[in-house]
Amino acid sequence: IPVASFAGREVALFGLGGSGLATARALAEGGARAVCWDDSDKSRGAAAAAGLAVEDLALADWSRFAALVLAPGVPLTHPRPHWTVEKARTAGLPILGDIDLFCRERARLAPDAPFVAITGTNGKSTTTALTAHLVAAAGLDAQMGGNIGTAILSLAPPAAGRVHVVECSSYQIDLAPTLAPSVGILLNVTPDHLDRHGTMENYAAVKERLVARAGTAVVGVDDDWCRAIADRLEAAGRRVLRVSVERALPEGLYLDGSAVVWAEGGSRRVFDLAGLGSLRGAHNAQNAAAAIAAVSTIGVADDAIRAGLRGFPGLAHRMEQVGRVGRVLFVNDSKATNADATEKALAAFPGAIHWIVGGVQKEGGIAPLAPLFGRVARAYLIGKSMDDFEATLAGRVPITRSGTMDQAVADAAEAARASGDAEPVVLLSPACASFDQYPNFEIRGAHYRDLVLALPGILPLGK
Ligand code: ADP
Repeated sequence: IPVASFAGREVALFGLGGSGLATARALAEGGARAVCWDDSDKSRGAAAAAGLAVEDLALADWSRFAALVLAPGVPLTHPRPHWTVEKARTAGLPILGDIDLFCRERARLAPDAPFVAITGTNGKSTTTALTAHLVAAAGLDAQMGGNIGTAILSLAPPAAGRVHVVECSSYQIDLAPTLAPSVGILLNVTPDHLDRHGTMENYAAVKERLVARAGTAVVGVDDDWCRAIADRLEAAGRRVLRVSVERALPEGLYLDGSAVVWAEGGSRRVFDLAGLGSLRGAHNAQNAAAAIAAVSTIGVADDAIRAGLRGFPGLAHRMEQVGRVGRVLFVNDSKATNADATEKALAAFPGAIHWIVGGVQKEGGIAPLAPLFGRVARAYLIGKSMDDFEATLAGRVPITRSGTMDQAVADAAEAARASGDAEPVVLLSPACASFDQYPNFEIRGAHYRDLVLALPGILPLGK
C-alpha cells in the first residue's frame, strides 16, 4: 500500500524486520524517503541490499524528518530505540507504527471501506482469523494482517467493498494515534505486558483507544476493565455491542448453552456453536460472538455467518484438532505457554483428558490448575519441569514420566486407546515455554502434529 501522506518528505524508520521493510517500501512507493536504522548488522545489510537508505539515526539531524516510524514489536521503552524516541519527541515529531500509516491511507483512499481492528489480552489471533474467515466465506474480499502475520502495508490497499481485518497488539495501538476502525473489537483486559505499560490503568487505557473512535465498538464485558470501558463509550454516545460468556445480557451477545444469542431491541438471533471443534470452550465463544458482531455490522447476513462458522478450520497450535484414532481425539494446544492458557484447554473438555504437559514453566507452575485436575485421566510429563510437575500432581493425577514428545504421544495414544472412556482426548497443552526442547511453540506443535499424523489408523482433521 503506497503511503502518500509523507510524499516528498523524509521519515526516520527504526526496526527493519519484515514489517519494517514493508513500511520502508510503502513509504518509497508513496514518494517519501525512509531513512532506516536497526541495531542488527544483518538487518541493515539486507535493507541496504534492497536499496533502502540506511543511516545512523543517532548522528542524523532530526529536523529533516517528518515522523519517526517504529517497527511493531520495538517497545517504546526498550533502551535502544529509546534514544530515537527521545530525539523524535525533542524534535516534536509524531511517533507512528505501520498501522497508523495504513489508517492515514485509508482515510484518503476509502474512508468508508470496512476496517475491523481487533485487540484484547487473549483471543486476538483467533478472533482475527475467524472474522476474516467469515468475511471471505460470505464472498467478500478479506484482507487479514497486522500482528497476526502479513504486515498491514503488504495487504491490498483500502478500496470500496474490500474488508481489512487487522490484529493490533497494545504496542501497535500505542503507535497509532489516528486509529479509527469502522468496527473495533476489545475482547478482554487482564494483566499482561505490564513491563511496557507500567500499570493496569495505562494498559487498559491503551486498549481503550482501539474502540474509543470505532464506528461500532464490540466489547467483551466479562472483566471489570472492559465493562468500565463499555460504560464510558456508551455514556459518550458511541455504538457499543456488548459480549458476555458469563451472563445473559438484556442487549448484546451472550452465551446460552452452546449458542451465541444476540439480543437487540426485543429480537433474539441465535448462532449455534455446538459441534464446532475449532471453537470449543467459553473463551472461544467470546471470540466467536465478537466476530459475529463485527461481520454482521459490516453487512454479512446471518445465514452466511452460520455457514462460515461451520467451515472455520481454527488456528494452528490453539486447540487445533489434529486427528482421531478410533474414539481418541488428538488436540494441539502448543500455544498454551502458561497455566492461564492451559486452564482454558482443560476446561474445554469434560473429562478423560490425557494431558501432555511440561517444558520451561512460568512462575506458579501448574498449581493454579488444581481445580481442573479431576478432568485429567493421566498426565504425561515432558521437558525440564518434570520433577516439579510430578510433585504438584502427585496423589491427585496419575502420571507418566515420558520425557520427550515422541514418548509422550506414544504413551498417551496407547493409554487413551486402552481406556474404557467414550471420548478420550490426548491434549498437548504444555503450560510452559518450549525452549528447553524446541526453538518455539510452533515447532513444538508441529512436532506433536507430525507424531500424531503418523499414528496407525489416524483420521486427519482440519486443514
Ligand atoms: P492472542 O492472539 O491474543 O495471543 P490467541 O487467539 O492466539 O490469542 O489464543 C491464545 C490462547 O489464549 C489460546 O490458546 C487460549 O488458550 C487463550 N484464549 C483464546 N481466546 C481467549 C479469550 N477470549 N479469553 C481468554 N483466553 C483466550
